[in-house]
Amino acid sequence: MFRRLVVATILLALMGGVAPARPAQAADIADASSGAVGPTTPPQGAVPCTETVDPGIPPVAATTGVTGAHAALYARSGFPTLCPGGSTTVTIAFLNTGSLGWYGNAALGTWGPEPGQDRPSALGGDGSGGSPATSWSRANRPGIQSMPYIGPGQVMWFQFAVQAPATPGVYQLGLRPLLEGQQWLEDPNLTFTVAVKQDDQHVPALPGAIVPPAPRTYLPAMLVDGSRVIRVPSLMYHYVSWLPTTDANMALRKDLTVSPTDFEAMLIYLKDNGYHTITTKDLWWSLDQTAALPAKPVMLTFDDGYADAYSVVLPLLKAYGMTGTFFVTVNLVDRPGYISRDQVRALADAGMDVESHAMDHVSMMKPLNDQIYQMCRARDFLSLWTGTDVRHFAYPSGDYNALSGTALERCGYLSGYKKSGGAVQTSNAMYLLQRARVHGQSGVSAMLIALGQ
Ligand SMILES: [Zn+2]
Repeated sequence: MFRRLVVATILLALMGGVAPARPAQAADIADASSGAVGPTTPPQGAVPCTETVDPGIPPVAATTGVTGAHAALYARSGFPTLCPGGSTTVTIAFLNTGSLGWYGNAALGTWGPEPGQDRPSALGGDGSGGSPATSWSRANRPGIQSMPYIGPGQVMWFQFAVQAPATPGVYQLGLRPLLEGQQWLEDPNLTFTVAVKQDDQHVPALPGAIVPPAPRTYLPAMLVDGSRVIRVPSLMYHYVSWLPTTDANMALRKDLTVSPTDFEAMLIYLKDNGYHTITTKDLWWSLDQTAALPAKPVMLTFDDGYADAYSVVLPLLKAYGMTGTFFVTVNLVDRPGYISRDQVRALADAGMDVESHAMDHVSMMKPLNDQIYQMCRARDFLSLWTGTDVRHFAYPSGDYNALSGTALERCGYLSGYKKSGGAVQTSNAMYLLQRARVHGQSGVSAMLIALGQ
């Protein structure tokens, strides 16, 4: 009873005393999903400073019932960009994926490398130890659980305030849940990023959000027959999500599913190791027109148009300043579990490369006219929906036959991608460009294997 009262009081304090006290919930993610959250009135003649929040990650399922104490990221609000001294409330949910219950003593702690477990953060803490007071219970305890007991398979919502320091820059919190007096839950290793800008004309980039274009110095080799060859790994993803509890073919689903945590770790690896994401358009220009690419180019491709393409992949790619290619199957759009037509448009509007994966997710080992229907109609629909000229294609399930190149050419496609591993791309096989699958459930090593193919 005492704890419940304390929690209600803290939540009320976190919400500025305006909203009714209640546990955080999914709507908080939607509320903070985009747009301006608090324009501040500038002094006369000063440049205004408007606080914004990037889109959040909506609830995603994860495998539960793992023996021991475990947790997985379930949802979070978006990364905010604040003005000096500004503050906002962050909402994060973790799913109890373990076999043990959390008895009113789970906390959300900061964790290394930045600002580090048990160290104060510039984003606020208990007011002592060098951090401003933001109602966090202690410097390393930014949130406490809002319910007295969270059983296996149940979701714990945390809310906490962050307060922007006076110095503009990009600040990070490492977050993971902790069973007080017991153990850190080892599964999540989540970094929450807060950007602080001086004003609307001086905005620091969220990690990689605004990246100056890389110099283009990497040219294809010209062979004696006039063809061009360049090595560009093109990585193939399907689901970027937590595994569902059941699936008709769980072995396949596991192989096709990379967790959001692993995916973010892969993006960090690519960024830290000097890779630059390019698109189907870039590769075509390089092979057909001898255009130079940035050093260490890599293509990130996402097949079929699953819902997580918009809810998980897009925010993460944006956060790291990267571009992905989304091969969308027209007749899967707007179905349960897939992106909507509006989201197809939103991906394109966000600067992503939306390309074709046929009308239906069927084999292209078909007579010419059947392939032409699948390819030409899909190009028409996707061009209409995205407002772009869709001219690149990936064969569903990687299946094609001797007529596929002719069909693609007649439909006006410039390139086509199969699925067998390999990274040496050649203008002699523009309709048989190569991709390598990133297998699920294997962490960053799965991507390193695909990169090396
Ligand atoms: Zn597919």
